[in-house]
Amino acid sequence: MTKRIFLLLLISVEVILCQPSESLNSSEIKIALEKLNTLGSVLYIAAHPDDENTSFLSYFNYAKHLRTGYLSLTRGDGGQNLIGDEQGDLLGVIRTQELLQARSIDGAEQFFTRAVDFGYSKTPEETLRKWGKEEILSDVVWVIRKFKPDVIVTRFPTNGVGTHGHHTASALLAVEAFKLAGKKDAFPEQLKYVETWQPKRIFWNAWTPALNSMGINSDTLITINFGEYNNLLGRSYTEISALSRSMHKSQGFGASGRRENLYNFFLELDGETVKNDLFDGIDLSWDRVDGSENVAKLLSEANNEYDFENPSAILPLLVKAYSELQKLNDKYWVKVKSAELLNVIKSCAGIWAEAVTEENLLSPRSEVKVSAGFVVRSDVPITLKSIQIDYQLKDSTLNSISVKGEMISVERMISIPENAEYSQPYWLAEGNHKDVYVVNDQNLIGQPKTDYPLYAKFITEINGDEIEFRIPVFYRDNDRVDGEIYKRIEIVPEAIVNFDKGLYLIKNNDEKEIKVFVRNFKDQLNGSVQLITDDGWKISPPKYDFNFTDKNQEQEFIFTISSSNNNHSGKIKAVLDIDGKDLSKSLVTLDYPHIQPQTVLFEAEAKVLKLKFEKEVPRKIAYIMGSGDKIPELLTDLGFSVDVFNKESITPELLKNYEVVITGIRAYNTYQRLSTDQKNLLEFVRNGGTLIVHYNTLGDLFADPSPYKLKISRDRVTEEDSPVTILNPSHSVMNYPYKISLKDFDGWNQERGLYFPNEWDEKFIPLLGMNDSNEALMKGSLLITEYDKGVFIYTGISFFRQLPAGVEGAYKLFINLISAGINE
Ligand SMILES: [Zn+2]
Repeated sequence: MTKRIFLLLLISVEVILCQPSESLNSSEIKIALEKLNTLGSVLYIAAHPDDENTSFLSYFNYAKHLRTGYLSLTRGDGGQNLIGDEQGDLLGVIRTQELLQARSIDGAEQFFTRAVDFGYSKTPEETLRKWGKEEILSDVVWVIRKFKPDVIVTRFPTNGVGTHGHHTASALLAVEAFKLAGKKDAFPEQLKYVETWQPKRIFWNAWTPALNSMGINSDTLITINFGEYNNLLGRSYTEISALSRSMHKSQGFGASGRRENLYNFFLELDGETVKNDLFDGIDLSWDRVDGSENVAKLLSEANNEYDFENPSAILPLLVKAYSELQKLNDKYWVKVKSAELLNVIKSCAGIWAEAVTEENLLSPRSEVKVSAGFVVRSDVPITLKSIQIDYQLKDSTLNSISVKGEMISVERMISIPENAEYSQPYWLAEGNHKDVYVVNDQNLIGQPKTDYPLYAKFITEINGDEIEFRIPVFYRDNDRVDGEIYKRIEIVPEAIVNFDKGLYLIKNNDEKEIKVFVRNFKDQLNGSVQLITDDGWKISPPKYDFNFTDKNQEQEFIFTISSSNNNHSGKIKAVLDIDGKDLSKSLVTLDYPHIQPQTVLFEAEAKVLKLKFEKEVPRKIAYIMGSGDKIPELLTDLGFSVDVFNKESITPELLKNYEVVITGIRAYNTYQRLSTDQKNLLEFVRNGGTLIVHYNTLGDLFADPSPYKLKISRDRVTEEDSPVTILNPSHSVMNYPYKISLKDFDGWNQERGLYFPNEWDEKFIPLLGMNDSNEALMKGSLLITEYDKGVFIYTGISFFRQLPAGVEGAYKLFINLISAGINE
């Protein structure tokens, strides 16, 4: 007999899935039972992926059994990528997934604000001005009101000691949000969806050198040993931490486990005075929930009676507790504990449930077969009443009673509706953004990722109670090497079109090939593809027709675009016409072994940049690659002849073939041969060559790049729109072949430059002056000197960022540098 129907419609508690139905082992069940008997939460707040103290998160989740969260203000999209080419938004998608993988190890939950990691920021003032302080403060308050932490902990101090802009801003926002989250008049528009919430205290997770510099004795602070060992897991919290931290692979943060004691200090920033423990005076039991006596008693009994060798023995207690839990009024704890409890019930019963497809990219108006399977690997008889798959064409009422180890299988066709939303990281769905993501739905803010598009509900009856397991539909395959693979399902357009490049560089009176790739996700698809520009470029042919006879085919089309003197730089768009409907989306797939594969849709657009070449410029360039940049291919696109050197000796014979040598970013930090071959480069300059050296860091240099005294510093200009002064307007580098004006410094990206020298020999001529707000003018961004018959240039200007982004002024300036050896 069914006593009650329990519907768990939306579990907001983020369960990270690498497969649809992860089961807990006996030790993990024990920890989950402890957690079911503990009611409290702690939220850690910092600025970036990798800022979080994963020892802290592991400890509070596994040792203290608290609901533990990490709020990273940004998704880390402004950093460097050590595993691939992705930058910006795509890097943010990868880092988001890396954080989710890290959380699946340390057991914490992940949150974000809308803040974009716009790159290095010196001051919290600049950071908050760019983000818009009120918007991000509102997001922090929102996450606090939703997550309801008893205690908040910041990674960084509010006074900026030992850190920089984003970091300090994260602490300042946390402290301010702590004061506001409990007040009705703060962000009242949120109260439609959430209640106010006042955490008890906020701390800074301090580190010793910062404390010392502030004159604070760590003995006076709350101290916790994160080196403690967990018998159930066979690991210390610091070891778990290292595994979690090693998921930040795009940042190269592989970490080794520490096995000894590791003490951390906590300085109270605000809230009720603390004596011995971060949670002093906070009730962490079911007593904090009205009417929960029965639930508390049942869960405590389940925990006491739990038998590691026979987990299913406590199922009757758990199922009863679940039913009692649904009667309580405290929506927050009902939701949190129901999700935890369902997972424990599923694991104790040995339930495996999955619904899988044979394709992972599905388009609207397509029909797909879903195979659902359900098996109980314990002695407990469970009735599988029905399986309900989203968009199923037929009902699947079953009323089958499980037999231990026997799979109940069902196949059903589903039909993706015409208006199904395309899958997309929700923070990128509204298209262009600057320093804050555009998210129009308040309820999405804070969430780490977009929800799965398809679910299957397995409606069961256990011990007379109806219990529903809601599980995402996955794509499943078997890989010859890696074995079983599950991927998330994505809803994609019927066809997509990708350009072969994001930026096309075109010379005046020249033509260029543009390749596009059209791929379809429907069985039969006819249509055409054409390119559209805003400004009357000549494109031939005007369009191509295509006719796909099977799913997942891809076809390449080559257009020719030609420029005349009338048109200028702009955007180019690819449009598919399918049954009179325009589709214009590009699809990028991010597939790395350590994360769930992701697809991202963008508008099918590329940039066209036209540069006039009317004067003679040097053509033969040697590029000595440093830590990696895309400048050589861009110069090649413009007709320069560029040879790239990655580890070869740079001999005088080799250098004879070139007019200009460029060293890529950080080449003197990374190109070992320069330790012996720098003398050849200087000889090359003495003989009349031009040597352009991009920025190097203060770390170890294989050689001194400069023939004359030059001292690299940490000076940088992080405001991409900072005012620029042309110090020496009559210098030939400011005039040949392009006349450089202040207009050429408009529309730059992320920053002006970094690691500028701050002292130099008087033979150097500084060409540009620039500075961030409230700082003194810096003149070291672009330094030039003659050296015997040649020219030596040192520049910290971030050409490596501006050129791939198609910044016209940066191209002109860079071509002028290449041409510095030409005497007009
Ligand atoms: Zn950081």
